[in-house]
Amino acid sequence: MVIVFRFLRRILVSALNQLSHTTPFLAGWWTMEHHPLHSLPPFHATYADFRFREYEKLSLRLSLAIACLGPILIFIQDLLLRPQMVRTSFLIGLCSVGILGLFPLALRVGLPRRWVRIVAILTPSVVASMDLQLRASQSGDITGAIVLLLYLVAYARILALPFGMTVTISSIGLLMAMPIGLKVLGLMPGMAPARFLFPMIPMALMMFLLEWNLTRNLHENHVQRKKLEDLAIQDPLTGLNNRRYFMMSASEHLRLADRNGHPLCILMVDLDHFKRINDTFGHGTGDQVIRLAADVLRHELRASDILARFGGEEFIACLPETELEAAGVAAERIRLNLAGSRLAAAQGEGAVLRVTASMGIAATRAGSESLDELIERADQALYEAKHGGRNRVTCVA
Ligand code: GH3
Ligand code: MG
Ligand code: MG
Repeated sequence: MVIVFRFLRRILVSALNQLSHTTPFLAGWWTMEHHPLHSLPPFHATYADFRFREYEKLSLRLSLAIACLGPILIFIQDLLLRPQMVRTSFLIGLCSVGILGLFPLALRVGLPRRWVRIVAILTPSVVASMDLQLRASQSGDITGAIVLLLYLVAYARILALPFGMTVTISSIGLLMAMPIGLKVLGLMPGMAPARFLFPMIPMALMMFLLEWNLTRNLHENHVQRKKLEDLAIQDPLTGLNNRRYFMMSASEHLRLADRNGHPLCILMVDLDHFKRINDTFGHGTGDQVIRLAADVLRHELRASDILARFGGEEFIACLPETELEAAGVAAERIRLNLAGSRLAAAQGEGAVLRVTASMGIAATRAGSESLDELIERADQALYEAKHGGRNRVTCVA
């Protein structure tokens, strides 16, 4: 029996995992709990993370609003229709306000979020069970209790929003099982459990649609934001990082290298006689050459290096954890690769375009130096390479 159950569960989990990679809805809904973030493809990982934070904000606000509003409405309803229940409603209100105060406080103190939420869901369910018993024994009218229970289900659902299915289903299941449990224990006279289950159907449907819509909106927002972020840090011609991103990221690496006493190099690359290429073959071909050089650089450098287009036909790279000698070897590889590549010129004369580049490398020295100073020294080295006859690499320690 247990084996069969585990087998079925496995099939379900793998099916949902498959789906989660293709549909944003499930990517957000399911993966939060069942994938460690790093095992997700990068977009889904950032989306799941984004969704979690957005949902957490929303669930905190909504659950606080519901915790405030619900008991007040029930209190007013009892005051008008069943004055004998006012005392109970008042107590329930007091409990809710207690939870309302404890919930953000516990989060602020740094208690584990998941446990705070589970306790926050459990507490009103205990209160509701007391209320159900009281109403059933005192007035026999449990309509208000059903409304209260539905309200608690919504509350539990909203509290569990940022988490995946397990927390949601178990918290709602807990609330729904409560009146049935009371009935089984003989504490709930004259009530069919089905009466509690029936109103759940439209409610579940409503929540499902609401969440579907919310997830779709969040996903669209996230895609838009990602596009904007990429635009802000990318060079449109080559797809490399832009200068702004380079300065930000490289100074971070430089700070780390300084602190840990690790080596770091800055490599500057400038294409040779580029003006001539533009003048002879046109700007379009010039652009093609820039893209070719970017591809060569991307191919030859490590994924952990930060590579950017620095200006027109100038590129820059920050090579963390790299000694000057190793950086020189990498630069030489780039130089040879670039000099060896051919680009059919668009002139139609069968002309083949050759392109070379000059490079300057500067390594960090003992004692801290700013990124600007380091770039300045790499630029000096580049200048020397140009003056030494171009198509070469110059290194300065
Ligand atoms: P040197 O070997 O001394 O570097 O000679 P150079 O001709 O490359 O000299 P310089 O750096 O002064 O010239 C760079 C030229 O690159 C000037 C500019 O017209 C051209 N350029 C800058 N940005 C772009 C671009 O995005 N596309 C194209 N096609 N050309 C560009
Ligand atoms: Mg230049
Ligand atoms: Mg140049």
